[in-house]
Amino acid sequence: MSDASELAPIHSLGEAYLYTRVTPCPLCGGPLDSNEAWFHHDPVRRVLALEIACRLCEAPFDKSFDASGVPEEEFAMLTSGPLAPPWNLPAQVLNHTPDPSHVLDVADWLTLFTVACEEARIAGDQGLDLCPPDRVAIRRMRLVAGACLDEALKFFDEDNDLPPDSAFFSDANRNRFWERPQLFTRQYITDLRFSLMKQG
Ligand SMILES: [Zn+2]
Repeated sequence: MSDASELAPIHSLGEAYLYTRVTPCPLCGGPLDSNEAWFHHDPVRRVLALEIACRLCEAPFDKSFDASGVPEEEFAMLTSGPLAPPWNLPAQVLNHTPDPSHVLDVADWLTLFTVACEEARIAGDQGLDLCPPDRVAIRRMRLVAGACLDEALKFFDEDNDLPPDSAFFSDANRNRFWERPQLFTRQYITDLRFSLMKQG
């Protein structure tokens, strides 16, 4: 069994959930079934283990993280259970430190910004059709979208408008940057953050 010190550290359960939204199945490249993911927290070893399956080939996928940086109160109620999206949790703090994520890179956070905005749009549309819109839920999704941009900005060096090479954890994400660098500038991300704030 791995010791927490051998594992990649995470800062919150929300970060673990978002990891499952952008990580492909190692066997077929399909999406993981994030909404059926389970977590188990070992409070002695400070290890968070995820159990999840591929939505396409149904192969199981296990992943463990060093959870020593996750605030104690996140596990106060529950040490195992379904892994909930951060917008379903009372607090939407993904990373309370100034350090960038060790498991999600700058391109992942920009993808997750889009994911959270899309979730908010779907929730808004459903609310208008079916029942009074759950404005609290939509607001939480927008807060998570903003937090994703904040996480992307943590990778930038001071006085540099482009992210450093160390901000990319995979060749696939590095290639996305080379293809469309204009979507990765500090100014572009800051402008997105500002327009999100204006939406309230
Ligand atoms: Zn698969």
